Amino acid sequence: MKAARLHEFGGDFVVEEVPTPEPGAGEVRVRVGGSGACHSDLHVRAGEIPVHLPALLGHENAGWVDAIGPGAEGFEIGEPVVVFGGWGCGRCRVCLGGQEQLCDTMRWGGIGPDGGYADYMVVPSTRHLLAAGDLDPALAAPLTDAALTPYSAVKKALPRLVPGTTAVLVGAGGLGQYGLQFLKLLSPATVVVVDSSADKRRLALELGADQVVDPADADAMEQIKAASHGEGAAVALDFVGADATMRLGASSLGPQGLFVLVGLAGGSFPFSFFSLPVQATLTSSSWGSRNELEEVLAMARTGRLVSTIERYPLGEINDVFARLAAGQVQGRAVLIP
Ligand SMILES: [Zn+2]
Ligand SMILES: [Zn+2]
Repeated sequence: MKAARLHEFGGDFVVEEVPTPEPGAGEVRVRVGGSGACHSDLHVRAGEIPVHLPALLGHENAGWVDAIGPGAEGFEIGEPVVVFGGWGCGRCRVCLGGQEQLCDTMRWGGIGPDGGYADYMVVPSTRHLLAAGDLDPALAAPLTDAALTPYSAVKKALPRLVPGTTAVLVGAGGLGQYGLQFLKLLSPATVVVVDSSADKRRLALELGADQVVDPADADAMEQIKAASHGEGAAVALDFVGADATMRLGASSLGPQGLFVLVGLAGGSFPFSFFSLPVQATLTSSSWGSRNELEEVLAMARTGRLVSTIERYPLGEINDVFARLAAGQVQGRAVLIP
């Protein structure tokens, strides 16, 4: 089969012929219909996330069941499927609780085990497959991370977002745009989007933001406080994760507010009694669960989720990653083998 593999950190992907993998006991081979080109893979390519070389990346996948290993049950050959990428051990406390993406083993399909930048990929268990139904695989693939990750973050916030409250969302890039949509679709809160890009602020307004704020404005914090009727936000979601965005997000909270860190920029924020609104809660949110992916797919099927994708042949993977690195991809780039 054709695969795009990474042979050295910092190098280009090499599109080459490799043996088509055979599914073992309990495993399923999926013919890849689309694999989302994710920003995380820029970090993997740079060697910041350790994987074995040569590495076959691609952790946002959908396609069709192509071959079924001995004992694997529940799916038919040819059935369209979405691949849940958080492959945990299946036996520990978090896995048994349905949160396999948080398992210590960190076996993520496409970051470690071979992923979907190829004609085919092997999924180690049918429990990682969800029926795609009539969702286009190229559209469904990025939902497994680009939509699932913000969905899981927003779900953590939903119990606090009662009528009259305000949510602050920092960073309206690919994930933030989904986060904004979930906030507007699932909560009655006023949603304030903070982004330094005028284009992103305009797009956020189109996607339903109640107010947008340029963090470069001298009175940015006053604008946020005014939007929350002076009481501060009930929730702040940071899709950037830099020092400045974390400080801004946490400072926008009211008493007992919740700060959810999603972005991987690696920033930090001092935690002390007086550095935060009283009894604020800080947490991070990493990917999402299989149940949450099922919920995201259900929402996609309603047609109310706006997803912008750009399709590229797998052979153009190096051009796609160059454009990703340069911030030139508008929605989500999906590689089609
Ligand atoms: Zn991803
Ligand atoms: Zn586990």
